[in-house]
Amino acid sequence: MSSLRDQLGADLDKTRAEGLSRTLRNVTSAQGSRIQLDGREFLNFSSNDYLALANDPVLKQAGVAAMEKYGVGAGSSRLVSGNLQPYEDLERRLAAFKAEEAALVFSSGYAANVGTITALVGEEDAVILDKLDHASIIDGARQSGATIRVYPHKNLKRLEAILQQSGSFRRTLIVTETVFSMDGDLAPLAEIVELKEKHGAWLMIDEAHATGLYAKNRRGLAEAAGVEDKIEVTLGTLSKTVGCLGGFVVGSQVLIDFLRNRARSLIYSTALPPAVCAAAAAAVDFIMSEDGHQRRDRLWRNVSQMKNGLSALGIQNESRSPIIPIIIGDEAATMETSRRLYERGIFVPAIRFPTVPKGKARLRVTVTAAHEQPDIEQFLGEFGGLTR
Ligand SMILES: *Cc1c(COP(=O)(O)O)cnc(C)c1O
Repeated sequence: MSSLRDQLGADLDKTRAEGLSRTLRNVTSAQGSRIQLDGREFLNFSSNDYLALANDPVLKQAGVAAMEKYGVGAGSSRLVSGNLQPYEDLERRLAAFKAEEAALVFSSGYAANVGTITALVGEEDAVILDKLDHASIIDGARQSGATIRVYPHKNLKRLEAILQQSGSFRRTLIVTETVFSMDGDLAPLAEIVELKEKHGAWLMIDEAHATGLYAKNRRGLAEAAGVEDKIEVTLGTLSKTVGCLGGFVVGSQVLIDFLRNRARSLIYSTALPPAVCAAAAAAVDFIMSEDGHQRRDRLWRNVSQMKNGLSALGIQNESRSPIIPIIIGDEAATMETSRRLYERGIFVPAIRFPTVPKGKARLRVTVTAAHEQPDIEQFLGEFGGLTR
């Protein structure tokens, strides 16, 4: 048998030859419309920090105060002695914000998806996924041992066909993102709700990129679609719009009590640092406030400016969110476009397989409330120059 160095080296050489090698950049500043990469400043169109909260002074203050009082680390799992007061405060805030009976915070969105799906379904059950569901949903489904069925992206006919064949399972759980993370388009929630009601399935939605952005009370796409009371399980993250770290589930008290007893990623993992919980609670307060509403309006103005500008350059897409992909297709060409923008002081990441299908490589442009009009004009000018 050849050595680890030879075998893994050969695998990496193949990845490099396919143009799929990944490296890490050294980020030497806080998040914002401008970030420093390896000591140089770039205009930043890569962040999920849509409301520009990751470096917000009020959040930082809340975090520092909690750190002074409770320390840096939580010391153990929440079920042992890690359930510090800021967790309870945050969960109360989240339940109120989402207008649900109860909330449960996990250490990341990834952990929330894996812990929740594996708790809800097992070998006697079926789990039905949209083809473009996030890796954390797929990993949860795989680990659960349930039978996995996948429908083509947003294809309701195929979803219904799968539901019709699922009668013999103990439970059937549909899991979909509401705003898709790499395409920025929206799930047809009202129609999915109708189908799951008709066939007696449960629905779990991942509002990672919708929480804090959509509908009157900013709760997400389920609020916008008017179907919140029909959804069994709602998941969100504290790592995108909320600007911090963590994942959460909201729903009925019985759901939350059940997950507290069964979700392995909650039980067997150390609690989040108290500073993170306190900062996230401050972020939720901000999102619900009048200032938060204004910040969100500004985000949507920036999104419109970017989308209209791209349309003028002949680039259309189905995005209805601050995630605006420019699909180039070829992996190497996408990397080259990203590199040329980088040379011009603009950071837009190239997203390739396996994050998106082969041949569907893209620049994933994200717009935040921190961008100014001239920032977006600068991007459009430079990008337009490259494509002429
Ligand atoms: C980012 C993301 C997650 C994972 O959240 P983290 O807090 O980053 O672990 C889960 N689901 C979707 C749809 C996401 O985009």
